[in-house]
This record gives sequence, structure tokens and C-alpha cells, in this order.
Amino acid sequence: MGATATRFVIIGNGAAGTYCAEQLRKLDAACEILMIDDEPYTLYNRVSLPRFLRGVLFEQRVYVRDQEWHDKLRIGLRLETKVTHIDIDAKVVTMEPGGQAPYDRLLFATGGRPNPLRVPGSDQAQHIFNFQYFDEAKGMLARIKESRLAVVLGGSFIGYELAEAFNHQKVETHWLQRGPWFLRRSLDEAGGRTVTLLAQDAGVHLHYEETIASVAPSNGSTLVAGTNGFSATADLVGVGLGLTMNIDLLKDTGVKTNVGVVTNEFLETTAPEVWAAGDVAEFYDVVSQRHHRMGTWDNSLNHGRHVAKNMLGAREPYVEVPTYASSMFNSNISVMGVTTEEEPDAEDLVEFDEDLRNYKRLFFLGDRLVGAILIGKMKGRKKVLELISSRASIEKRESVLELLAMPEVPAKAPAPAE
Ligand SMILES: Cc1cc2nc3c(=O)[nH]c(=O)nc-3n(C[C@H](O)[C@H](O)[C@H](O)COP(=O)(O)OP(=O)(O)OC[C@H]3O[C@@H](n4cnc5c(N)ncnc54)[C@H](O)[C@@H]3O)c2cc1C
Repeated sequence: MGATATRFVIIGNGAAGTYCAEQLRKLDAACEILMIDDEPYTLYNRVSLPRFLRGVLFEQRVYVRDQEWHDKLRIGLRLETKVTHIDIDAKVVTMEPGGQAPYDRLLFATGGRPNPLRVPGSDQAQHIFNFQYFDEAKGMLARIKESRLAVVLGGSFIGYELAEAFNHQKVETHWLQRGPWFLRRSLDEAGGRTVTLLAQDAGVHLHYEETIASVAPSNGSTLVAGTNGFSATADLVGVGLGLTMNIDLLKDTGVKTNVGVVTNEFLETTAPEVWAAGDVAEFYDVVSQRHHRMGTWDNSLNHGRHVAKNMLGAREPYVEVPTYASSMFNSNISVMGVTTEEEPDAEDLVEFDEDLRNYKRLFFLGDRLVGAILIGKMKGRKKVLELISSRASIEKRESVLELLAMPEVPAKAPAPAE
């Protein structure tokens, strides 16, 4: 009698879940894979949603995998299906609809859900959107066509993406941020000023130290009242108020959770035969030597591929420098490693050119470079990443800025003659 095929169950068909399934199939032709997700779509790229919302990317280009791909790779997929219970001892998940599915090994890749706007009137007001799911992007895109004025709330990347998209779509955009500037925990005042200038250059109206106090329906639009004097009648309100990790299923299971699901460097949870990956994993990061979560596509994809090997018995630590790269109106921003958001004691070194809208902030712990933020020119990004991941001792901090100013070696430069 041949060995029975291992049964893998994956909760969540985002980047972490889907790339894990793909890797499992590559490495184990015989295994059984079942992926369960409560959304109605095969894998789509959340990173593409802002461009879809700006109207520069067709719906079809947002999808990354289709049902045919699943069929070909024999990766079972239950869409519009919610996992409602996990029995860790019996190794069974319960789905609604669909009953129960037993597993040998389980991946928890459930990501997070967006925090809704909860202020007086938000239950009755219309046209208030979060920005996490394809359906929300579709809803906003339809509404944009009827919109003259939009309000955005949120001082982080989702707030930026909403402001950029509405503004790009020629809707008068008012961007409210509770703090004194964008990414206030990672950027200093000069970094905040750089983003302010880029937003103003693009035509966005900025309102710092202002948040939404209440909303009320008004002739098919929404009356928005701010906490600091702001007031507008908005056709569209977009909010980026952070995510709550989808860990409710693990309550009372004994699996350790904090903000996300706590794992070690192998992405193993505290329960046998259960791993976690992607946004939801609060993993031990060997580069920064601390537990943390990453909300990036690349991290989720790499987690997914990596955890598959470990679920098949490899037990290799996950080693990557966390990075986030995004457009910033007509410029770019890149965040690498850890910043003062995660390490408030990190010391910094800043270079800022207001006229050129160029900004660099480096973060050090002792003699090590642990993180950086670049806005504007991305020159030197690779060197910074190398320095962070090598954990090399740096004698003179200014030397890193000098290194960033040096011309870059072209990617395919011929090797120097001996
Ligand atoms: C608008 C937007 C722009 C972004 N831009 C960037 C960017 O520029 N660069 C970047 O690196 N990252 C960006 N990100 C972040 C990036 O997209 C995420 O980090 C990544 O997609 C997370 O993948 P994941 O697989 O961990 O989780 P998710 O993609 O969140 O997938 C989890 C899935 O699990 C499902 N689920 C949860 N609970 C259950 C349950 N009980 N039963 C069944 N299904 C369940 C969820 O509905 C979801 O479909 C952006 C995100 C958004 C929303």
C-alpha cells in the first residue's frame, strides 16, 4: 500500500495562501491542497487596487491567478466560504457553507480587515468606503463618476492611496490626518514637509491635526464635520484607519496571538502542525531580532513560498529585510528595515532638499544601520538594503549618506578586467 497523501488546508487565498499552495504543489506532486476564502475572487493583487481606482488599470489586470490555474495545479478552492471554527486537537476546520475539512497541516493566512469609521452618523451616512477589498475599490470607482468632492481620512499609506486616486480622477480631494504630518511615527518634520509639498504640487487639499467628528446624510451626499473646524459636503468618503488582524478563530484554541498570530522564525505557531504567514503573522524576524508584522505584498508572497518548504519538513528560518515601496504622488517613497515606529530609540540621520523634494532618513541602533526611508530619488536603495541585511558595523554614519550620493553601478555592468 502506498503512503497516503498529506492533506494541507490553507485559510485565506491572498498572496501568502496562494503562493504557499503553488510551492506545495511544486515540491509535493501527490499532496492534497484545499484553500478556503470568504471573498468571491481567485488571487488578485491588492497592490494593483490603487491603480485600478485611479482608472489606469483594467479589472482583468488586477487578477493574478484564475480558476483554470487552480484546476491545472489541483489546488482546491472554496470561495465565498468562511472558516468558522478550528479544532486543533481533532485537526478539522469547519466552513460555512461546506461543513468540515480534516487536515494534516494547516496554514493560517487570513490577513486583516479594515477598521471602519465609527463616529456619530456613520451608520446612516452613505458612500463611506474602506480600501482593502476588490469590491470596495469597485464601489468607489462607480461612485467617483458621480463625485465632485471627496474627503479622505488617514495618515498612512491607505490614506495616501485614496487621496492620490480621487485627486487623479479629478475629484476635489480633502485629505484629513489626525497627526501633524504623514507617517508621523516614521518621518520627522522634514519628511512630513516633503510629502506635504508633493501632495500640494498635485493639487490635494491637506488638513493636518484634523479628523472626522461626525457625518450625516445630506441630499445623497455626506456632510462631514471635522474635530478642528473642517466641514464639507462630500460625494465620497474614503478611510484608511488601519487593520484588525483576522485572528478571532484562534480564540480559545491555545494558539498564541498578540496583534497577529505569534510565530517563531520558521513561521510555526505555538500549536503543532499549524503555521501562519503574510500580514497576519507576527513572526520572529532574525534580521531585526524582534517579533513584528509586515503589511506588504512581497513579504506575504515570500512568507507563502517559504512556509510551504517548512510545512513539508524543512524548518528553515525566514530571512528578509522588510521593505515597502510606493508611488508618492508624482514621486516615490521607500521604507526599509525598521524605523522609529517600531524602534522609538533608533537614532537618525536626515538629508532633505526641499526644492528637489528629496528626503533621506537613516535609522541606527548603535553602530548598525537598521532602517531607512527615502522619498524622491531612489538612488542607493539597494546599497541601503545590503547594509541593513549584512548587519555590518558602521564607523561613520555620514558615510552611508555619502554612499547613497555615489553613482550606481549599472545592473549588468561587465566585470572589471583583472
Ligand atoms: C489598497 C492597498 C494597497 C496596497 N499597496 C501596497 C504596496 O504598494 N506595496 C506593498 O508591498 N503592499 C501593499 N499593500 C499590502 C498588501 O497588499 C498586503 O500586505 C498583502 O496583500 C497581504 O496578503 P495576505 O495573503 O497576507 O492577506 P490577504 O490578502 O488579506 O488575504 C487574506 C484572505 O483571507 C480571507 N479570510 C480571513 N478570514 C477568513 C476566514 N475565517 N475564512 C475564510 N477566509 C478568510 C480574507 O477575506 C482575505 O481574502 C496594499 C494593500 C491594499 C489594500
